[in-house]
Amino acid sequence: MGDLDGKVAVVTGVGRPLGIGRSCALKLAEMGADVMISDLCRKFEGELAFYNLGQWEQLEKVVGEIEALGRKAKAFKVDVTERGEIEEMVNTVMDEFGRIDVLVNNAGTGVGVGPFLNIGEAAWDKTVDVNLKGIFNCCQLMLPHMIEGGGGAIINMASVAGLRGSALYGAYTASKFAAVGITEVLAAEFAPMNVRVNSVCPAIVDTDMGFDQYDFLSLMRDVSVEEVREALNKRIPLGRSATADDVAKVVGFLASPAAGYLVGQAIRVSGGMELT
Ligand code: NAD
Repeated sequence: MGDLDGKVAVVTGVGRPLGIGRSCALKLAEMGADVMISDLCRKFEGELAFYNLGQWEQLEKVVGEIEALGRKAKAFKVDVTERGEIEEMVNTVMDEFGRIDVLVNNAGTGVGVGPFLNIGEAAWDKTVDVNLKGIFNCCQLMLPHMIEGGGGAIINMASVAGLRGSALYGAYTASKFAAVGITEVLAAEFAPMNVRVNSVCPAIVDTDMGFDQYDFLSLMRDVSVEEVREALNKRIPLGRSATADDVAKVVGFLASPAAGYLVGQAIRVSGGMELT
C-alpha cells in the first residue's frame, strides 16, 4: 500500500533526462499515484531559441518508467504559459484518470540569467511567464477539479533564489520570489477546501538546468566548470550539490498525508546552503 494509492498527479516540466520533474513523477508513481507528465517539447521563439528544453522522446521514456512501476501514465505537450494547451491536458486527465489530487508546478526556466543591465525584454518576459504565470494557469485550471475531488496538494518548485536575492539572477529571482508569494496566497485561500499548497526551494541541483548554470558561472567568472562546482560545494554545509531525487523525496512527502498539517511553507532543500 502506498500513501498515494488511487490518487492522480500532474507534473509539469518532465522532459529532460536528469530533471527534477522526472524524479518527482517517478517518486509519486512509486507512492501509488497515476501520473500525467508534460513538457513544452519545442524551442522558445526567436532570440531565446538557443535555450535547452525538454523533449517528447524523453517524456515517452518516463511514461514507460512509470508503467514499469505498475501505475498509469500519459504524456502531454504543454506550454504552461498557454491556457488553451493546459485546458486540453486537464480535459484529458479528467477523461482518462477521472480526478486530480496532486499538482507539481515544476516547469521553469533560467533563460534570463545574466548581468541585470543585459537582461533582454524577451528573456525577462519568458522567465516571468514560465516561472510565475505557469503556476497561475495550472493552479487556476486544476484547483476546481481538486476541490471537487475532496482536496489535494499543490507543490510549486521555487528556489532559494525565491528567498534571497543574489547578483546575476534578476529575472529568475524575481519570478521565484513571486512563486513563493503566490504559494502563500493559494495556501491561505484553499486550505479551507482541503487543498494544501506549499513550495520547495532547492539550491544547487545536478540537473540539465543545473549543469547549464555551472557553464554560465564558469563563463561569467572566467574559471573552469570544476572550479565553479568546487566553490559552490564549499558553500554547502553538507558538502555536495543535490540530486533531483533529493528534491523529489521532499515533494513526495509534501504530497503525502504525512504532511497533512503543512500549509503555505517554503521548504529549503539546500543542504544548508544560504545565498549571500
Ligand atoms: P530542467 O531543465 O530539467 O526542468 C525544467 C523543465 O521545464 C524543462 O524540461 C523545460 O523544458 C520545462 N519548461 C520550460 N519552459 C516550459 C514551458 N513554457 N512549458 C512547459 N514546460 C517548460 O531543470 P530542473 O533543474 O529539473 O528544474 C526544475 C525546476 O526546479 C525549475 O522550476 C527550476 O527553476 C527549479 N530549480 C532548479 C534548481 C537547479 O539547481 N537545477 C535549483 C532551484 C530550483
